[in-house]
Amino acid sequence: MRLSRHFTLAEAMASNKARERGIDNTPPEALIPRLAFVAETILERVRAHYGIPIVYDGGLSWYRCDALNRAIGGAPTSQHVKGEAVDIEVRGIPNIELARFVRDHLDFDQLILENWNGRDPSSGWVHVSAVAGRKMRGEVLTYRNGVKSRGLP
Ligand SMILES: [Zn+2]
Repeated sequence: MRLSRHFTLAEAMASNKARERGIDNTPPEALIPRLAFVAETILERVRAHYGIPIVYDGGLSWYRCDALNRAIGGAPTSQHVKGEAVDIEVRGIPNIELARFVRDHLDFDQLILENWNGRDPSSGWVHVSAVAGRKMRGEVLTYRNGVKSRGLP
């Protein structure tokens, strides 16, 4: 099932961890429009800008059912569980640059540059959420070594 031109439901629910643990990471039907909104407003735009597929170590980290979220130690209120967030990387693009692109060009709810260390451009990843039907916060954060700070480095 296709969520947008280039992104599928299979990608939204793919997770090595879920497979390892035998967790069924199929989202409830009601969340599919949210996943499609993220695909349309975030993933398609990032893909169109860089002209290459989005990668994340063998799969996007996108939807997480409760069991999967617990298994990876995610925050209970994580937007991944609500189908509103995705973690992205684009091969060859430093994650700080990707984060700046999202900040400057896309409409989003929350953007977090996670575990980027400044020495290795490919370190960490970029967490982005988008929500249909309510005002998006446009919040920008950096999260590193367990510490959250405002803005990007
Ligand atoms: Zn995330």
